[in-house]
Amino acid sequence: MHIREKLAQKEAAGEPGISFEFFPPKTAQGVQNLYDRMDRMHGLGPSFIDVTWGAGGRLSDLTCEMVGVAQSVYGLETCMHLTCTDMPQGKVDEALQAAYKAGCTNILALRGDPPREKETWEAAEGGFRYAKDLVKYIREKYGNHFDIGVGGYPEGADDNSDVDQLIDHLKEKVDAGSSFVITQMFYDAENFIEWVKKCRAKGINVPIIPGIMPIQTYAAFIRRSNWTKTKVPPEWMEALEPVKNDDSAVRDIGKALIAEMCRKLMASGINHLHFYTMNLAQATKLVLEELGLAPSDETPIQRPLPWRPSLGLG
Ligand code: FAD
Repeated sequence: MHIREKLAQKEAAGEPGISFEFFPPKTAQGVQNLYDRMDRMHGLGPSFIDVTWGAGGRLSDLTCEMVGVAQSVYGLETCMHLTCTDMPQGKVDEALQAAYKAGCTNILALRGDPPREKETWEAAEGGFRYAKDLVKYIREKYGNHFDIGVGGYPEGADDNSDVDQLIDHLKEKVDAGSSFVITQMFYDAENFIEWVKKCRAKGINVPIIPGIMPIQTYAAFIRRSNWTKTKVPPEWMEALEPVKNDDSAVRDIGKALIAEMCRKLMASGINHLHFYTMNLAQATKLVLEELGLAPSDETPIQRPLPWRPSLGLG
């Protein structure tokens, strides 16, 4: 099912929706562990999960395999990330075919980060320069088979700090045929809420899904916020810095901070939270429990889990 329909269903039922991002692990054991974790996290009731695409197509076969397994074996509605620069166009076609055959009907269309060994990205053959080119290409080749999402940047992107210009470019991606937006991680709820208002004022009327990065450890929190140049509200640092060597205290305080941010987002009208799980379940689960969004004996998930055979993947 298309993600936009999943979002509409939740909206109509007056229930908040959640989704989880995973990335392809480097080892076979890591892949098996992740499948087990995906299976367990299925029990938290995500509307969909998504699987990232390695910069330049690195581990792209594994992304395709994971999409196929999640969609057709685990019965999870799955969205495949796909980038369009720094790799041959043939890979774009192969990936779209693999998703199509696996029954996956959702693609997050991206330009792509530069591959690890390069500092900048390069336009690829086939005329792909920006994500909107990929959106158009998928629409031309597959009509409405795929629902297409795109990335949004409430605090600016790596290569462009001009937030207003990025909103203009986001509008172009939506006009090219995308029907939902997932944002980069952030910790400043007020800034995000103002950014959504600006997007709406520019005529971006599709669902905007905030990307939520739970706090696992202090070191990872600092590393990621520095790397992505994410603004950290001063009161967050004041709460986390004194307990930085106590992982359990960081998780507890981090859970409360992230949950409070999510409450503000939901109070502003946001109905779906997208979690960057970093392939780990605990921090996301803690936030969902804090928000009262994790299933419990009183509020079990509504639908039965699909039958899943034992996988035997190693
Ligand atoms: P675009 O929207 O194409 O924008 C890229 C740059 O081009 C921006 O600076 C923009 O302002 C500029 N631009 C766009 N249109 C125009 C125009 N008409 N004229 C001039 N300039 C223009 N990367 C991966 O490699 N794999 C992933 O799986 C992945 N997943 C992601 C998931 C999310 C939710 C997000 C937000 C990002 C993800 N990324 C991923 C990172 C993303 O690929 C990079 O941030 C990349 O640098 C930009 O991708 P984009 O799709 O936003 O590009």
